[in-house]
Amino acid sequence: MQSIPDSSDEKLISLILKKDLQMHKLEEIVEPEAAARVRRKVIEKLTCADLSALAEAPMHYQMLIGKNAENVVGFVNMPVGIAGPIKVNGKHAHGDFYVPLATTEGALIAGINRGMKAITSSGGARVRVIGDAMARAPLFEFDSVTDAEEFLEWVDKNRNGIGSAIENTTSHGKLDSITSFVTGNNVWLRIAMKTGDAMGMNMVTIAAEAAAEYIESNFPKARLITVSGNMCSDKKESMVNNLLGRGKTVIAEALISNDIIDSILHSTAEAINLTNIKKNLLGNARAGSTKFSGHSANMVAAVFAATGQDIAQVVESSNCYTWTEVRPSGLYISVTMPSLEIGTIGGGTVLPPQKAALSMMGVAGGGKIPGSNSSKLAEIIASLVLAGELNLVAAQGNRELGKTHKKLGRAAK
Ligand code: NAP
Repeated sequence: MQSIPDSSDEKLISLILKKDLQMHKLEEIVEPEAAARVRRKVIEKLTCADLSALAEAPMHYQMLIGKNAENVVGFVNMPVGIAGPIKVNGKHAHGDFYVPLATTEGALIAGINRGMKAITSSGGARVRVIGDAMARAPLFEFDSVTDAEEFLEWVDKNRNGIGSAIENTTSHGKLDSITSFVTGNNVWLRIAMKTGDAMGMNMVTIAAEAAAEYIESNFPKARLITVSGNMCSDKKESMVNNLLGRGKTVIAEALISNDIIDSILHSTAEAINLTNIKKNLLGNARAGSTKFSGHSANMVAAVFAATGQDIAQVVESSNCYTWTEVRPSGLYISVTMPSLEIGTIGGGTVLPPQKAALSMMGVAGGGKIPGSNSSKLAEIIASLVLAGELNLVAAQGNRELGKTHKKLGRAAK
């Protein structure tokens, strides 16, 4: 830490305002907590906003340095509610779970709870993780398509060399697949890895950089344009994740009996099925959506915010196909989530409130077998999404949507 003759708040504020000191250098002079306080005061002066509500610190500022955020001024607090219990019959998650949800949307948790009650009363959600690999797609440029073709053959023959370059960068990451895409003289290699309990984006990026270095050294006609050529595809709407999967590919299903549909959801299997087909399948197809669900993003965003996932990955993590069928005993419903990108270690999952939220479901940190905790979390999240989807199609089939939001989202001030 640097020492300067006067490191009082007032002195530091005046230095920053005079542009004699950059805000992000404050931690070099004072403790992280003081740095955040000084930055807050500077922004208050510059914007005339009262930032005192940001000041309450749920954790030590020191924890964030070099890991979670830069130029910190405070914390945005969000209410965290609990939905559940929901009975989950997965390979990794067995039993009844309470799920923490951070949201400011009134009626969301209440609605999810109703869906969970219907699922749990019907015996629970059956869930399976059917795919598990995080992807990064470096993009290489060649002089011609003939060089590109030669490269594809070389990649096939040198998979072991590329694999070693990748796996030397990590003790938990394992190469799963390399899928190539060619456009003109450009080749993307979509490198997918098993990443244990980590969501894996840093892990796979570091590994893909090592792979690209190995490729450029051993196949000099290949020129790396970028380690992330967007066939990955991270934080963007795309069909590639729906087709190839990214993170966990997970399916949750339930059979809801006719009497439970009647007593809890106040609907019928036929009405829910019709709403689902016309809204989630036809409506989303007509709109050109990559999601065929009602509001999967609601559940994914709330559980991501509560458990320290990378919130921007809600974009593809909420990709979802909600499917229903009328069966003699009731309604079959499933959600298929091709690209649920989650971890129980690394990123924001290590911060105390987020870790506590993960602990509530028994999934904080690395599992006994690497990958078991993140798979368990994937099964719980898919069950959560199933509950939210079931409730929404039932409510909309009953024309209850506006009524509930009026009651729970617009209470008198
Ligand atoms: P990470 O915290 O960067 O890496 C996970 C670390 O945990 C590794 O050092 C790994 O060691 C270790 N580890 C210990 N036990 C483990 C276990 N049981 N399973 C897996 N790993 C274990 O986390 P990440 O998931 O790779 O990356 C997440 C972060 O990436 C988030 O903060 C996210 O916001 C950010 N992100 C980065 C990019 C990017 O392009 N770089 C893009 C989007 C998001 P070993 O590697 O030695 O196995």
